[in-house]
Amino acid sequence: MELIDTYGRRINYLRLSVTDRCNMRCSYCMPEGGVEKLTHDQVLSYEDLLRISAEAVRAGIEKIRVTGGEPLVRKGILPFLSRVAALDGLKELVLTTNGLLLKELAQGLRDAGVQRLNISIDSLRPEVFAKITRGGDLALVLEGIEAAERAGFPPHKLNVVVMRGVNDGEILDFVRLTLERPYAVRFIEYMPTSGEGDWRALCVPGAEIRERIAQQFTLEEVHNSELSGPSKNFRVEGAQGSLGIITAMTGHFCDGCNRLRVTASGMAQGCLFSASGVDLKPVLATGDDALLRLEIQRIVAAKPGRHQLTDEGAEAVPFAMSRVGG
Ligand code: SAM
Repeated sequence: MELIDTYGRRINYLRLSVTDRCNMRCSYCMPEGGVEKLTHDQVLSYEDLLRISAEAVRAGIEKIRVTGGEPLVRKGILPFLSRVAALDGLKELVLTTNGLLLKELAQGLRDAGVQRLNISIDSLRPEVFAKITRGGDLALVLEGIEAAERAGFPPHKLNVVVMRGVNDGEILDFVRLTLERPYAVRFIEYMPTSGEGDWRALCVPGAEIRERIAQQFTLEEVHNSELSGPSKNFRVEGAQGSLGIITAMTGHFCDGCNRLRVTASGMAQGCLFSASGVDLKPVLATGDDALLRLEIQRIVAAKPGRHQLTDEGAEAVPFAMSRVGG
C-alpha cells in the first residue's frame, strides 16, 4: 500500500512523539517558564502508539522516527521500541534525542532495533551549550555520543539549530569535526516556534551557512537516499563525515515533504506548522484498527501543499516544538 496525498507526494515517513516531557529547556524549543504539560490521561499509552504505528505502516509508512519532548525520559521506552521495530513492513526505525541519557540507554536502544540516532548538539562550547539548553551538561552528551558509537550505531546525525549571535560562530568548528569523525552534521535553520524574540534576526539562512563554509573549504555534493530527510547534503573534500543544511524557513522543501506527525496526545498533523491537527483519540477509542487506518489515509489526503510561514505578512505561530516533536 502507498500513501499518496493530493499533491502527488508519497508519504512514507512518520514522526511519532512519545512524550512532551524533556530533561532540557532549550531556548529555541520552549519558553523559559516551560510549557503546560500534558496530563497522564492525555498522553497515549504505548499500546495506542503501537496501534497507530502498525496501521500507519500498513497504510504505507516505511520509516518511523521516535521523538519527543525527550523520548528517552519516558519509562518503558525500550520494550516499546522493540515492538515498533518488529512491525512487518517497517524499513527504518530511528530516534531523535538530546543525548543526556544515552550513556545508560545506548546499548538497549541498539538491542531494541533502533537503526540510527539523531542527536541534538547546538554547541561544542560548554558555556554556550549550557546557555542554549538552560543548564544542559555538554560533557554528558559527548559521553552519550561515544556510548552510542560503542553500542554499534552507524555514524550519528548531529543536529545543530543555527542562531545568529548565539552559536553561528561555531559553524566552522562543526565542519572541522566532520574532517576526523564520520558524523553527519546537519545545520537547521531556526524556526519561529516558541514565539520568543524576532525569528528573522535569529535565523541564519541556509545559503549563508553554505557560503560561509565554502569560503574556507572545498565542498562536494552527497546524494540523498529516498528515505533521507529534507537536508541538502555535501561534504568537505576528503572528510570522514558529511554536512547537511535543513532550510526549514527559506527552502520550501514542502514539495518533497514525505512526513506525517503524531504527537504524544494523539494529534495527527500533516504539516509541522498546521494550526491544528486531527485528534486520533476518538477513533482509537472505537477499538477498530481498520477505521484508524482510514483516518490516517484521510489526514494524508488533507495534507497542505506548503506551509505559509515565510509568506509576506505571515506571523510566527507560537508553539513549543517539544509538543509536536521537531
Ligand atoms: N529531545 C530531542 C532532541 O533534543 O533532539 C527530540 C525532540 S526535539 C523537539 C527535535 C528537534 O527539533 C531537535 O533536533 C531540535 O533541534 C529541533 N528544533 C526544536 N525547536 C526548533 C526550532 N525552533 N528551530 C529549528 N529546530 C528546532
